[in-house]
Amino acid sequence: MTTSSSGRILDFQYQAYAQRVIFGAGCARSDLANEVKLLECSRVLVVAGGAELAVASELTTELPVVGMFSGVRPHVPVTVADAVRALAAESEADVVVSIGGGSTTGTAKALALSSGLPIVAVPTTYAGSEATPVWGLTDEQRKTTGVDVRVLPRTVLYDPELTTSLPMDLTVASALNAMAHCIDALWAPKANPISSALAVAGIRALGSALPPVSRDGSDLAARADLLYGAYLAAVSFGSAGSGLHHKICHVLGGAYGLPHAPMHAVVLPHVLAFNSPAAAWAATEVAEALGAEDALEGLLALYASIAAPRSLRDLGLAQADLAEAAALVVEAAPPSNPRPFDLADAEQLLHHAWAGDRPQAQPTTAPEATA
Ligand code: NAD
Repeated sequence: MTTSSSGRILDFQYQAYAQRVIFGAGCARSDLANEVKLLECSRVLVVAGGAELAVASELTTELPVVGMFSGVRPHVPVTVADAVRALAAESEADVVVSIGGGSTTGTAKALALSSGLPIVAVPTTYAGSEATPVWGLTDEQRKTTGVDVRVLPRTVLYDPELTTSLPMDLTVASALNAMAHCIDALWAPKANPISSALAVAGIRALGSALPPVSRDGSDLAARADLLYGAYLAAVSFGSAGSGLHHKICHVLGGAYGLPHAPMHAVVLPHVLAFNSPAAAWAATEVAEALGAEDALEGLLALYASIAAPRSLRDLGLAQADLAEAAALVVEAAPPSNPRPFDLADAEQLLHHAWAGDRPQAQPTTAPEATA
């Protein structure tokens, strides 16, 4: 076994993904046309929907646009994927420019998955889909996900100016979705020292920027930190894979259609409470990055300061669905989780998350994770 002088295990595998990243206030306006040109593309299909449509039209006036797809819907229904593919074929597009949150990026990814068209992504939330090779599609309440490098955007332009319009409830939930990428990456199946270093830096950026942004949504410097943290979060998640938290949310989102970012925000402290007694190394890293003595207390203090969502009941999950959800969640739990997760654990965790109870760390005798 290879260990560092501090005792860290340094036998690992790390898959890096090639992507060009431009970061800075105003970069979407100043650099988008040039980035498309650098890819030697000349027929742009724009994907944007909802509140982002107006800004997308404005940002793409200088581009050689051959089509505009605005039919974005949450979780990328297969009918939406079929529609964007038809428009791309009809307009003979050679590049996709996606401007929006995870649902918009996901729509562009569905197109890239079948066509191989390159994506230039301009994210407007903290979901992080633009920095992962993960795609997702839904068909009649069933969500299928996969990993394919063809869907990884070639270029991402991170412009914090585009995030100031994000309403505060979505801002808080979306940034906590990014926080969940970071924390779950510390014990996910493919966790490694590189993904963990990125995750810890992401926790630090997100944790320090969320309180000022929640006080003043127009604070551009703090918005920049949130977007930076969101990028680190996405790269760490893309490398480490889905841990217990993401598996739980994948089940809940797919089976009960709960809103993506708020659901992640609600579940995260409960997973941290469950796993941290069996993953002391990860808990110490989270605590330090949040500037707290204890990981869970630090996260709960952050939640209290930003009015974070707390209950799955408030998000629309019916109490009658809890038993079925617990059974589905246990099946999905990763065998590599630092702590065994059985049906009673799943029932308890989901009940507390549903009711909005304060999560309590439970002692364990399971062996400690060291990744
Ligand atoms: P979203 O894209 O659905 O956006 C949520 C809402 O915010 C929408 O109404 C949208 O119009 C609005 N919005 C977005 N940006 C805005 C802005 N700047 N100003 C005002 N309104 C704005 O939600 P999301 O949380 O960004 O993404 C969730 C989706 O992304 C889910 O389907 C999830 O599965 C996927 N996702 C995928 C990955 C991956 O790696 N593949 C990672 C994270 C999330």
